[in-house]
Amino acid sequence: MKKVAKFGGSSLASAGQMKKVADIIHADETRRFVVPSAPGKRYSDDVKVTDLLYRCYDAAAAGEDIDGRLKEIQARYQEIIEGLELDLNLDEEFAVMRDYFQRQAGRDYAASRGEYLNGLVMAKYLGFKFIDAAEVVLFDERGNFDAEHTNEVMRQRLKNMDNAVIPGFYGAMPDGSIKTFSRGGSDITGSIVARAVKADVYENWTDVSGVLVTDPHVVKNPEPIETITYRELRELAYMGASVMHEEAIFPVRQEGIPINIRNTNRPQDKGTMIVESTCRQPKYVITGIAGKKGFCAINIEKEMMNTEIGFGRKVLQVFEENGISFEHTPSGIDTYTVLVHQSEFEEKEQNVISGIHRAVHPDSIDLESNLALIAIVGRGMKATKGTAGRIFSALAHANINIKMIDQGSSELNIIIGVRDLDFEVAIRAIYDIFVTTQL
Ligand code: ASP
Repeated sequence: MKKVAKFGGSSLASAGQMKKVADIIHADETRRFVVPSAPGKRYSDDVKVTDLLYRCYDAAAAGEDIDGRLKEIQARYQEIIEGLELDLNLDEEFAVMRDYFQRQAGRDYAASRGEYLNGLVMAKYLGFKFIDAAEVVLFDERGNFDAEHTNEVMRQRLKNMDNAVIPGFYGAMPDGSIKTFSRGGSDITGSIVARAVKADVYENWTDVSGVLVTDPHVVKNPEPIETITYRELRELAYMGASVMHEEAIFPVRQEGIPINIRNTNRPQDKGTMIVESTCRQPKYVITGIAGKKGFCAINIEKEMMNTEIGFGRKVLQVFEENGISFEHTPSGIDTYTVLVHQSEFEEKEQNVISGIHRAVHPDSIDLESNLALIAIVGRGMKATKGTAGRIFSALAHANINIKMIDQGSSELNIIIGVRDLDFEVAIRAIYDIFVTTQL
């Protein structure tokens, strides 16, 4: 049994948190490979070390003196080192960083130091080997992550190791310069390591007890999800649920390795298992609810539209030519609607309208803005009758008008459109009917 454990920034923000992490690792000797983030926020209006590093680098690039900023960053590590009573001094590391910052070694280099230094601290505290991610996470000349090359190099490097700490978030280009993933990218590193060592499970430790059925900002203390499939998670993440970095799924998915989202502050909780496929019945008919505001509907009307072959293609081509992606296209006999992100559409709206007029000569075009889309996702819906009916009656009872309905052919999700104004009430109503009433 082999586990890879990735810890997020809030799990490593202070000496107290680091101690919890060490307890977790020592409690299970199969947790052999550890991937840390940079120290995150210690309290809600604290600043993440990664952000301090970006600011420091920008100040250096603007020719400002950065000594005060570097001291502030070093103090964050010093506080942890002292709290853990470690015999570790980062003065030299910071002297090198200062030099590199002034020589403008790149924003990616700057940001990566958060994970790099935290990796040094963790390795020392755990008594594990430290492996610089720049040696084992590789990008190509164009800056794209080189998955296969990385897998081979990482596999060789970790093959005969009992344990190691590999900092998250960054790797190196062929010329040795540092390159990071996008924000939150330590999740990807954890997944890459799990694939390379063929781990039995990729544990992703954070500050919630798993993926929640819905957004806790909308529903108070929503239930955690016990088991979710990669596909369900993708649907929810696409509609705004924030769980892990989107790209973190791919490396482990290739090997069929499950991901276990866990809470560093409540290690007794089992968290959520994210799996390829499962015959375990979900606890509720639905697995999760997610949604986003800020959509706009372009409603096109033309009599006898149904007889015009190619009508939809011509309309969508106008969106393509304007570089706008569409979300849904519900249609009727003589009506065709295109749903788009308002922010993407606004600037080009008049070009699109005139483009549609030229392409299909409609009788009228009408725009409706401030719409929200809500996705109700669940592998259990396929086998259950009346799911859509329950959603609609819950919304009717909450006095909410449904603007659009779309059920994918996979029966994995039902998407409904409501007004932005009704968004929160709608999610609560759906949550209540499927979860609260079943508790
Ligand atoms: N430290 C990086 C960030 O704040 C990466 C990570 O934490 O995953 O985005």
